[in-house]
Amino acid sequence: MKADAGKNKQAAAPKTAVTPTRSEDYAEWYQQVIRVADLAEASAVRGCMVIKPWGYAIWENIQRELDAMFKATGHKNAYFPLLIPKSFLEKEAEHVEGFAKECAVVTHHRLVAGPNGGLIPDPDAKLEEAYIIRPTSETIIGASFASWVQSYRDLPLLINQWANVVRWELRTRMFLRTTEFLWQEGHTAHATREEAEEETRRMLDVYATFAEQFMAVPVIKGPKTASERFPGAVDTYAIEAMMQDRKALQAGTSHFLGQNFAKASGIKFNTKNETEEFAWTTSWGVSTRLVGGLIMTHSDDDGLVLPPRLAPAHVVIIPVFRDDEGRAKVMPYIEALAKELRATRYADRPLEVEVDARDIRGGDKQWEWVKKGCPIRLEIGPRDADGGVVTMARRDRPVKDKVVVPRAEIVATLPTILTEMQDGMFERARAFRDEHTHRIDTRAAFDAFFTPKSAERPEIHGGFAMAPWCGSATCEGEVKDRLKVTIRCVPFDSEREDGACVVCGSPSPRRVLFAKSY
Ligand SMILES: [Zn+2]
Repeated sequence: MKADAGKNKQAAAPKTAVTPTRSEDYAEWYQQVIRVADLAEASAVRGCMVIKPWGYAIWENIQRELDAMFKATGHKNAYFPLLIPKSFLEKEAEHVEGFAKECAVVTHHRLVAGPNGGLIPDPDAKLEEAYIIRPTSETIIGASFASWVQSYRDLPLLINQWANVVRWELRTRMFLRTTEFLWQEGHTAHATREEAEEETRRMLDVYATFAEQFMAVPVIKGPKTASERFPGAVDTYAIEAMMQDRKALQAGTSHFLGQNFAKASGIKFNTKNETEEFAWTTSWGVSTRLVGGLIMTHSDDDGLVLPPRLAPAHVVIIPVFRDDEGRAKVMPYIEALAKELRATRYADRPLEVEVDARDIRGGDKQWEWVKKGCPIRLEIGPRDADGGVVTMARRDRPVKDKVVVPRAEIVATLPTILTEMQDGMFERARAFRDEHTHRIDTRAAFDAFFTPKSAERPEIHGGFAMAPWCGSATCEGEVKDRLKVTIRCVPFDSEREDGACVVCGSPSPRRVLFAKSY
């Protein structure tokens, strides 16, 4: 048992709750963290996962916080059909091209007994027009917008939908890329180009604020290059984060759609001057991929590490006793403490407290909560109850690092400790990212930066490269083919700077962010 590693005096190497460790095999470590933290599991449906209660509770916290931020910026929630008529998807040429290869298509509405037993789609129940299970909803929401928008008085129209989508991915990985995933998609229509562009940037900022303040994940904001844009968009902006294997994760995108989708769907309005114009639209989304980003940014070789602001439980109380006498002392003490803690607030909500009174070994129980990433563990035995103290352990410190704290002090200081942990996680992630972000100026240095140092550890490369680029798609394509490196974005804070493209040497106006990515 890994959980008993500390007692095993013969153990040669340091034991961890997760094997392999990050440095042994990062990709497999990621899968194992999901397993030991009980976040999700594979399902009978290829590429689709079952999100288990602890994983879903993290998503619910993400939803709740983002939903409040969307509402605070004037958006309202609505819901549109899962099935999209095929003809809708065909309306926007680039959009079709971008999504056609990964569509699930519904062609029949009834099953009948087949010739060799089993069920087959009833040939008499073939749909006149096939439906696509939404890969994204621009076209079906656009159809509604076309009827909702008549006059400039109907604008801006600010709608968000929480939903599931399906994209038939060939290579899937839990949370990061699954065939079906959960997300939100914002869709807005505006009277002017300026207002729509402002909205696109506003929602990118909402995502960046959420990533940094709630997920404790530092992000870089900026527009994508043409080749990385959302199909049909005029501009796509993204937030990019660095994972612990130094790869980039695109954590959220916000698209300025110009009038492309308004023209495709017929979203027109009468202006104040009685002329008729097409609206300007935007769309923006984040998904359950954020949970993957959270895992890969903060977790360690003992399992998940959760930022307190998104943790389904802030504190777990673990009773430790051997007999009925112990129970009689410990349980009332714990119940009173839990009640008091639940009446305490942390970051605008009550402290979430779990009391784990299951009848299993204390050591196993403790390790289970370490692996699940619960920020604070309080162990309480008869002696703690007698002395009016608790034994506290923090998930951001070594597992055996425990302190005995007076009961009154723990109640008073827990919110401060959680704030300290949240800030510490962000600072650690930012320091890691900054340490592995380099300014690169020559082709040779660029190639060396992205070439793994050893065959045994092919995933270890430099990290983020801020390098000059001439603006040509050919140069962009070359590094993608040769090194699997892409331009993640043109960071907003990348200032004008004359340089020479790291690929071809032609003049470059500013540095862009190059990285390997998920
Ligand atoms: Zn170039």
